Formats: sequence, C-alpha cells, structure tokens
Amino acid sequence: MLGLAIHGGAGTLPRAETSGARELRYRAGLAAALDAGFVVLQAGGTSLDAVTRAVMALEDNPLFNAGHGAVFTIDGHNELDAAIMDGSTLKAGAVCGVTHIRNPIELARTVMEQSEYVMLSGAGAEEFALSRGYALVPSSYFHTPERWAQLERIRRGDAGLSALTISHVGTVGAVALDGDGRLAAATSTGGMTGKRYNRIGDSPIIGAGTYADNRSCAVSATGHGEVFIRAAVAHDICARMRYGGRTLSEAVREVVLGELPALRGEGGVIAIDAQGEIAMEFNSEGMFRASRRAGEEAQIAIYRPE
Ligand code: ASP
Repeated sequence: MLGLAIHGGAGTLPRAETSGARELRYRAGLAAALDAGFVVLQAGGTSLDAVTRAVMALEDNPLFNAGHGAVFTIDGHNELDAAIMDGSTLKAGAVCGVTHIRNPIELARTVMEQSEYVMLSGAGAEEFALSRGYALVPSSYFHTPERWAQLERIRRGDAGLSALTISHVGTVGAVALDGDGRLAAATSTGGMTGKRYNRIGDSPIIGAGTYADNRSCAVSATGHGEVFIRAAVAHDICARMRYGGRTLSEAVREVVLGELPALRGEGGVIAIDAQGEIAMEFNSEGMFRASRRAGEEAQIAIYRPE
C-alpha cells in the first residue's frame, strides 16, 4: 500500500487570513506538492525520494514557511532548518540555521548520504553544501513581502497575534511508505517569526519534529517547537507503537491530544505506518494537510474534518 501525507503547518488560522482566494492558493499548493511526491511512489521510487520531492515543492512555494517563504528572525534574517530520516536504515540528516540554501531538505539528505554526521549548522553546513556542488542563493531569495509585513507586525507588538498564528509559523513536512515497505519522514521550516539568538526548533531534531522507523511509523510534526522538543514527539509516537502495542492512530492521539496539551504545546503531526495507515492529528484550530494512498483519491484539508 503506497502512501504519502504532507503538511504545511499548524496553528490558529484566523479565517480572515485564509479565506477565499488565499485559501484556494494554499489548497493548490498542497495538491501540487502531494502530486510531486506521489508520482515518485507510483513510478516505483523510494519513500525517501517521495518525501524529498514533496517537501521541495512546498519549500519553493512562498505561501509556506520553509525555503522561499521562510519567516524572518527579529533582526530581519531567514534561518532555515530541515531534517530527513530513512525508516529502513535509521539513517538521518539535518541542517539548522542555514541562510543561503534554496532547498534545505535536499541538503539534509546530502548530509545523511554523503557525510559521516547527522546534523550540520550555519556556516559549516553551507561550507559542506559548497563542497558537494550546491550553489548558494542570496539572502534576498527569502525576502517575500508578506513575511516582511508579518515581521513588522510582530516588531510593533501587534495585538491579536498568538504564538501560533499562521503568519508566525507554517513548517512543512512529508511522510511516505513506498512499494518496498520503506518509511521515510522529512520536515523543513523557517522556524517562528521574530525568533532570536539563533533559536532552533523541533523540526531538524531527530526524534522531536522528525522520525522514521520501519518497525513503527514515520512522523513529521508542526507546532510550538520548544514543547515538541521537550516531549520528543516524533519518537514518542513511534515508541508507543513499538513498545506499547498502540495502533498508529492511538499513538498519535495520545501524544497530540494528551501529552502536548498537558505541556501547553499547540500543533500537530502527520504519520504513516508500515501498513500504509495514515494519521493526521492536531490540537490547533487547523493544520494544512493532504494525503493519498494507492487506489484512493487525494484528501486535502485545513480545518477539522471537512
Ligand atoms: N515547529 C516549528 C518550529 O518550532 C514551527 C512550526 O511548525 O510552525 O520551528
């Protein structure tokens, strides 16, 4: 059973910010990224390739907070984080705090496949990228007017913005099961608008925002990163299945609707298990998400079951 699920971030979604034409653009972006990953699976490709393609499509879309559309730090920079994990080997790669990498998920994958390390940061990650033939992009590539306006609202201390208003967040991710039964997970983000001090969230941390293990499931998370790190969300979901005998949906619900709210952690996850079961659960008002399994129609949703 081939399967792919993607997300474009969770958060409180003021209807005003996502209504009408804007909502349609989000839906179209999700549909395109889902297709980009699903054709890989249909053609017999690996789950690693599928999640890489899907996340790159979301990184290239300025609507989502990753790659091109990354949010700004308080002093007006873009610092990007990404991670990828192969559930059949437990190999993983991650980059954090990169500022000139067009597709951080691609670099995370190169770290996994072409280095002896799991996680590289900042200038060193970019030096590694150059050594592997990457072209660096100028920081202006990440300068989108919408994200800049959001930073200015935060700098003004605009009332009415919660930490998880969609304009602050919007991480992207993908999880997949391929025809050979291999699971993979990938997550990419610009982090949280107005972040300081080279803050790193959960997305690039293996076991927090990203995890995959063929013996249980593949998970990509989105939400308030500090809490997701403390709760080791992605690994906890896998562990509940592996040691606790939970089904995928039980494990996901226990963590997203139990552990996280207890720590006041808002957000959600997408997950897929080795049988192709998919779970997409969140405790925020909405989560941009889409999924498709072999022989089934694509599902695209933002709010609660539509
Ligand atoms: N989890 C991300 C972070 O904390 C943000 C998000 O998912 O929107 O960096």
